[in-house]
Formats: sequence, C-alpha cells, structure tokens
Amino acid sequence: MTVLDEIKRRRTFAIISHPDAGKTTLTEKLLLYGGAIHLAGSVKARKTSRYAVSDWMEIEKQRGISVTSSVLNFDYNGCRVNILDTPGHADFSEDTYRTLMAVDSAVMVIDVAKGVEAQTKKLFKVCSSRGIPIFTFVNKIDHFGKNPFDLMADIEDVLGIRSCPMNWPIGINGNYTGIFDRETEIAHLFIKDNAHGTKKLEVVSGKLTDEAITSRLDPDIISSLKDDLELLDEAGDPFDAQRVASGELTPMFFGSAMTNFGVEPFLKKFLELAPPPMERKTLEGSVSPENPAFSGFVFKIQANMDPKHHDRIAFMRICSGVFEKGMSVLHRQSGKMIRLSQPQQFLATERTTVEKAYPGDIIGIFDTGELGVGDTVCDKKHPVTFSDFPVFPPELFGRLSPVSSMKRKQFLRGVGQLAQEGAIQVYSQPYIMESFIIGAVGQLQFEVLKYRLQKEYNVDVRLEQLPYTTARWTENNTPSEDLVGIDNALVVYDVKKRPVYLLPNEWQAGWLIERNPKVKFLETPPII
Ligand code: GDP
Repeated sequence: MTVLDEIKRRRTFAIISHPDAGKTTLTEKLLLYGGAIHLAGSVKARKTSRYAVSDWMEIEKQRGISVTSSVLNFDYNGCRVNILDTPGHADFSEDTYRTLMAVDSAVMVIDVAKGVEAQTKKLFKVCSSRGIPIFTFVNKIDHFGKNPFDLMADIEDVLGIRSCPMNWPIGINGNYTGIFDRETEIAHLFIKDNAHGTKKLEVVSGKLTDEAITSRLDPDIISSLKDDLELLDEAGDPFDAQRVASGELTPMFFGSAMTNFGVEPFLKKFLELAPPPMERKTLEGSVSPENPAFSGFVFKIQANMDPKHHDRIAFMRICSGVFEKGMSVLHRQSGKMIRLSQPQQFLATERTTVEKAYPGDIIGIFDTGELGVGDTVCDKKHPVTFSDFPVFPPELFGRLSPVSSMKRKQFLRGVGQLAQEGAIQVYSQPYIMESFIIGAVGQLQFEVLKYRLQKEYNVDVRLEQLPYTTARWTENNTPSEDLVGIDNALVVYDVKKRPVYLLPNEWQAGWLIERNPKVKFLETPPII
C-alpha cells in the first residue's frame, strides 16, 4: 500500500455527548464490531473524571484499563479507525477540547428521549468553530423517544445545523424495531436475544415488500414509515458531502448502542463518509498530510499510566509524513532534536510498539519531561508550528505547599509532572521555594490535583485559595519594573519563566491595560 493509500484509509475521530447519552456504550460497540474486543463490557471505567472526585478516584483504581483507552484503533472494511476518548465532565472540558484538535471528524451521540443537551451543545460548538465535520448518532431508540422529525428540528434550533437522516427508525410512537436505510432502501429488523446487548444481534434485512419483512411488520408501521420517507424526500436536505465538510449539514443515524440496533450499519456508512486526514494550519502555512516532511503535535500528556514506574506518555497526532520508530525530530518549542523511541499504540486493553505510523494516527511517546501539551514536533529541515491549539485562561488561583517539609522532593516532582501533563498551571514567585501558585479552570481540578499528589507522589498538600481571578501575560514578556499601576497584581512566573500578572478581577486587568498602552497584554501564554 502506498503512503497515500494509508492516509486515505485513516479515520480519526472522537465521540462527543452529554453524560449518559451513550458514548461509552457506543465506543464499546464500535470496538466489538471492529473486532478489537470480543465481548462488550471490557472497556470499563472510561468515564474518567465524571461528576465528582469520588468517581474519579474510583475510576483511577482501574487506571490500567481506563487510560489505555484514551486512544483506540482497529481495522474495519479497509479503514484504519482511530477513536479518541474524550472525558465527559464539564470541569475537564479543557482536556476534551484539546483532544478535539487531534481529530478529523466527530460523532455526536444524542439520547432519543432528550435531544440536544447542554454539554453536547458546548462540544458541538468547539467542533464547528474548528471546522470539524459532525455525524449524529441518535441513541437509545429501543426506548420510548421523541419523534425523529422533532429531533431534526431540535438539532437545527439548538445547534444551527441541518441534518440529513441516512436511516430512519421503523416503528410507531417510539416503539422501534429496526431501521430503514434510505440509500439502499433496505429495512433492517433486529431480533432481540438474551445477551442484553453484549453480543452482536441477529438481523433480518430486506426490501419493504419482502416476505421476511412484511411478515414481521404491521401494515400500519409500514405505511407510517412510507409517509415519513416521502416527507423526507420532499422536504428534507439531500446528502451533500460538501455541506457536511463545511459543517452545514450533519448526517444523522438512528440506533441503539446497548442493544446493537443499527451500530454496524452506522459504522460502515460513517467510515465511508467521514473524511480522511486533511490539511492543517500552522504558523508557517498549511501542511498537507501528503507532505513527506514529518510533522505532528502533542495534544495530551498522561503521567503515571503505570503508577509503579512514574512514566509519562505524550500523545501525538501525526499530521504529515511517515513516522518511523526511533526517528529524530525537531521539538519546535525547545529547538532541540528529540528521538521518538518506544512509540506505543493502544489496542483496547493492550499497548503495542509501532514501527510505522501515518498522518491521522495517534502514537504515544515516552516522554522524559521535554514535551508539553500543544507542542509541535517536525522535520528539522521543514519547521512548522501548530498554533491552533486552545489554551484556557485560568480563573482560580491558590497557593500550594507540602504539609511536611520532608516531602519537598516528591512535592516538586509531582507538581512539575502534573503541570507538564496540563492538569494544572504552575507559577513560581521569586525567592519563594517552599510553595507554588497554581491556576485552574475549575474547582475540581484543584481537588484532583490534591488527590493525585497524595496518591501518586505520596505528598499531602495544603491549598490556600487566593483572591485572584484573572491572569495576563505580555507579548514581549515585559518585566514588572516596566509596568505602571501593578500594585494590585501579584507577579508570578510560569514554567517558561515568563512574567504573569494575576489580578483580582477583570476590571483591574482593564485598568492595567489602560495604564500601559504600549504593552500588549495576553489572556493566555504566547505560543512560543
Ligand atoms: P456516556 O455517559 O455517554 O458514556 O453513557 P453510557 O454509555 O455510560 O450510557 C449511559 C446509560 O445509558 C448506561 O446505563 C447505558 O447502559 C445506557 N444506554 C446506553 N445505550 C443505550 C441504548 O441504546 N438503549 C438504552 N435503553 N440504554 C442505553
């Protein structure tokens, strides 16, 4: 297979949803149909950081499984499928947003009874603002649900995107027994078994006139289905690949992940329609996946995947060129060459070493502390910088110190590693060695930090919340001596030793900006 063939067969996507819509179940079923697992139920504990710290802790116990599920891949119908996991909790959306930067499309799971929910809306917005095409899977049609036309209206009203049903649920008043594929005009009826969705379901398929179908469907159901289909043909939007790519239209599929209703037809069609890796923007211009010069970026760092070894894995999305095990690349942010050794790929519950990987693939690199989230690695002769990476301004600040000064060493190591992972932002103050200022986007981040320092580094910490809500960097790292009116600001330094001004509120930040008209203030750190 040529490199081009390899690129064209990649499908790298994330599944997004409001908690409980069925993301975990659908992921599991895709793996089941993809042959990556043999019995559903093995991708446990994927709901990292949902709801509360206690849940997170519970999940953490099963870490071995949950974190290797961050990226999953399998081959199906000639495609190489890469599924990226996105944590569900709102406080961790930072992690989710970053993961979405590494995908080429997204599957939005909607609960048939609930329609579009808050978290779905937020995630949808990130995808659409980044031009990521979205496919909709309406889940739980085995349960009573909304009328499919109402769901289409809901998607349009709340998300502002038109939908194009690729299939349609068969049944009246929410009692569905199958789906009808609009393109092939084949009805798929599912025969329930006693495996409660843990195994592939038996399916009966045929034209609406076939005996196999008519003998199983009430004439009322068939005529109601025909009416719906007619209406869709007349008033609905036809499938249009261009409109899908530009985010104006979402192909819509109905099914039920738990009972396997429509999962396989969805997988097949989705892989057919979903885009392969596309051109990506960099500060130096667009980079095509077909460009032979290697490039990629780190979108996630996970420390302590194996708590015994304190290892750190940097998850890297390959954007162009071919990755080969052991290759040396330029780390754009430090300007140093690094060797990408021991690259890992993640297959359901096991890791394997990769020899070669192509644009669209995600590899995990053992990192010694060089790489940071958002960093670019590339061919040294063709340096590029991926810059489109969302950085979220911290809004909560606290002073963190170890309870016992005997634990200083572990404290420093733990804070340093978790900062690099992107779990927290860490700032230091001149002449203060025994504590750090930390910044977070949400309260839960603080809680998880305390818990992880205790659990993974055996350090109890004290966290004193500070009365600051906003941080400002400056474009040229202007030192505090050159600024006027910083009496209300706390001057701290980020991990790259850049000055950061912490202010009690936006108003004070505005005042600082006004007093220093020549200085360009930034809400997030400069990229390089
Ligand atoms: P997530 O929070 O989006 O990952 O949702 P889960 O996959 O954990 O599903 C949430 C709940 O909905 C679980 O109890 C699932 O068993 C259930 N569920 C998932 N898919 C279906 C479905 O197709 N039908 C029904 N009835 N329940 C489902």
